[in-house]
Amino acid sequence: MESLKKYIRHVPDHPKPGITFYDITTLILDPAGFKAALDAMEGYARERQTQKIVCIESRGFLFGGALADRLGLGCILARKAGKLPGKTVSEEYALEYGTDRLELHDDTVQPGERVLVVDDLIATGGTLQAVCRMIERLGGLVCGIAAVIELSYLPWREKLKEYDVHHLITYDSE
Ligand code: AMP
Repeated sequence: MESLKKYIRHVPDHPKPGITFYDITTLILDPAGFKAALDAMEGYARERQTQKIVCIESRGFLFGGALADRLGLGCILARKAGKLPGKTVSEEYALEYGTDRLELHDDTVQPGERVLVVDDLIATGGTLQAVCRMIERLGGLVCGIAAVIELSYLPWREKLKEYDVHHLITYDSE
């Protein structure tokens, strides 16, 4: 799957100096690239006997939404605080400076349901950890995490050690 690297644009010093932004807009712009990424994620989701998909705002929506359609499964949005209209559960998580909060509608996950969490990229793992916690608070079972990219130079493995994590591309250094 490392062949997918050719579809990822690297934007140095974005959103601030010293950070390399790994841009998946160039992957989804290419139908062959988008399809190859979804094929791999679909295989993993089937292996994990996924019953529902949770996708994370905003780039996670693209992959999670398409996957839910391919698999014929329900799709749940994990959104930034205040965006979802219904009753929600929420979790705060740490950013480099300050905190942020994500929410799920509280009637979306049923007890014991096998839920796959989908995002574009794993950096520190804080975002995914917050979403996994909410799924568990609702009684769901996180059957796996699927992302296009993981940054192996950041310490996400410790945060996500309880979970089965699947990624298509690894970057070892900035
Ligand atoms: P984290 O919680 O640190 O794992 O951050 C993951 C979220 O931030 C994902 O939703 C990514 O879209 C975004 N993100 C973090 N770092 C990068 C990066 N270097 N390039 C692109 N997206 C990033």
